[in-house]
Amino acid sequence: MEYNIPKLPENAKCKRCRSRGEIRLPSHNTIWCGACFITFCERAVAKAMKQFGMSVETEILVAVSGGKDSLALWSILNNLGYRTRGLHVNLGIEGFSEASVDAIADFARAQNLTWTQYPLKEVFGWRIDEIRYRTRRSICSVYGTVKRQLLNRLTALEGYRTLATGHNLDDEAGRLLGNFLRHRDYYIEKQYPYLPSTHPLFATKVKPLYRLESGELRAYCHFASIRPLSASCPLSRGATSHLVKEALQFMEDKMPGTKRDFYFTWLKKRQPPAPFDGEGVSRCRECGAPAFMETCSVCAIRAMLSSGGHGTGVRETRDE
Ligand SMILES: [Zn+2]
Ligand SMILES: [Zn+2]
Repeated sequence: MEYNIPKLPENAKCKRCRSRGEIRLPSHNTIWCGACFITFCERAVAKAMKQFGMSVETEILVAVSGGKDSLALWSILNNLGYRTRGLHVNLGIEGFSEASVDAIADFARAQNLTWTQYPLKEVFGWRIDEIRYRTRRSICSVYGTVKRQLLNRLTALEGYRTLATGHNLDDEAGRLLGNFLRHRDYYIEKQYPYLPSTHPLFATKVKPLYRLESGELRAYCHFASIRPLSASCPLSRGATSHLVKEALQFMEDKMPGTKRDFYFTWLKKRQPPAPFDGEGVSRCRECGAPAFMETCSVCAIRAMLSSGGHGTGVRETRDE
């Protein structure tokens, strides 16, 4: 993958150790050497985990795609002393999924980490191209619903209570801006980098990278010698979320710090969500998974696909 880190002048110095500066962070108005930059990223994650009330005793399942964010996350949590395991849902996309698996396998081998992969067809019953063919809604949004619930179930299946995902500051700030643009108050209310659960069937979900920008994670992979998958997911091409993130980045380039100010100022005013205790949960009559209606959202999508894809079949419930 292209790391795109601009070369700094010979005399640039690291702010912390005064050795040769290797990366400039305009949003922090600072310059780091590679080693101090790695420390900076690890501290950002340590700070997030502390805010989530997580100690290194917590065993964490890390959702990995093979991309820069999830591999950086896995690496940082491991370096901070967390006991982790990787979880990968193999979408079976020709040319893309093999490369994802290779990137994860290479990384895990080098770091001596363990992981499990589940083929989507096996755990959901449909391949991604079948879903795409049969649905009128954007594949990204349909699969997003399926993925959220599958990851929750697989976390329980793997015997874990906490799931970490690689969402970064660009993802979270972009999502918030997208929700503001459409006045989606319900989603704005729900958005938070930490979703605690006290119910055995629901994983606690954390986004420990929410303090780091996409470009910073690319640089982290460079300095930590991680080789992530360079291609982006073909499913997300043309997604509106990309456009919103690009708009934010445009402002960030003109006004460094915009992303952080926008997201952190909003986050500061919010209360962390109360731990979810399973209130209102029953069992899906089709598959027995926890659900908030008669059937869970995954079975609703399955039914929609079986009936030829008509009707939306997709609804948003609390994070099942
Ligand atoms: Zn340094
Ligand atoms: Zn179900």
